[in-house]
Amino acid sequence: MITVLRLGHRAERDKRLSTHVALVARAFGADNLFYTGDYDQTLEDSVNKVVEKWGGAFKIEYTSSWKTLVKTWRGKIVHLTMYGLPLKTVIDEIRTVMRQFDLLVIVGGEKVEGEVFQVADYNVAVTSQPHSEAAALAVFLDWVFQGTELDKVYPDALFSVVPSAKGKIVKRRGLLESDFGVDGLTR
Ligand code: SAM
Repeated sequence: MITVLRLGHRAERDKRLSTHVALVARAFGADNLFYTGDYDQTLEDSVNKVVEKWGGAFKIEYTSSWKTLVKTWRGKIVHLTMYGLPLKTVIDEIRTVMRQFDLLVIVGGEKVEGEVFQVADYNVAVTSQPHSEAAALAVFLDWVFQGTELDKVYPDALFSVVPSAKGKIVKRRGLLESDFGVDGLTR
């Protein structure tokens, strides 16, 4: 089981990015996400709407204190940071510990407190260049699951995509709805 902890959400400035972090977490195989910073019902609603529509049991939850969450966490802790050890050098060990332990994957926001580096069992760099929490999380989860998450299907989904080379085909539980036919024309 993988839980993501997104630190320091700012309701006004991070609305889109935190939504993206949560959607990446869900789509790439994490089970749930906690966030700290500002409580944001709009963020939770938009993630929950995606779950209602596209399926699965992904949960988003606010926590006022990352320290309490970390203190009570029974599994291992990974902190994604450009200053950590290269992903390639630690991923095998992380996959091994995952056989026994749940994983808490911490991604930061604007500024990350030094203590986070200390509580983490693994500080992991997805390259040593600065980029984005959404990108770091996507790559990390992809390496954890070795690409198998790309084939995940959601049997309870209300909507699902029928892969198509050109059109945009969406199935609504049993029915087939196409925005674009195979000839690419809008219907
Ligand atoms: N200077 C900040 C720091 O303390 O790492 C960068 C903040 S960055 C905008 C937000 C988050 O993205 C970071 O806290 C980290 O979780 C993630 N991140 C950015 N670049 C990363 C990288 N190269 N490897 C792993 N995580 C990264």
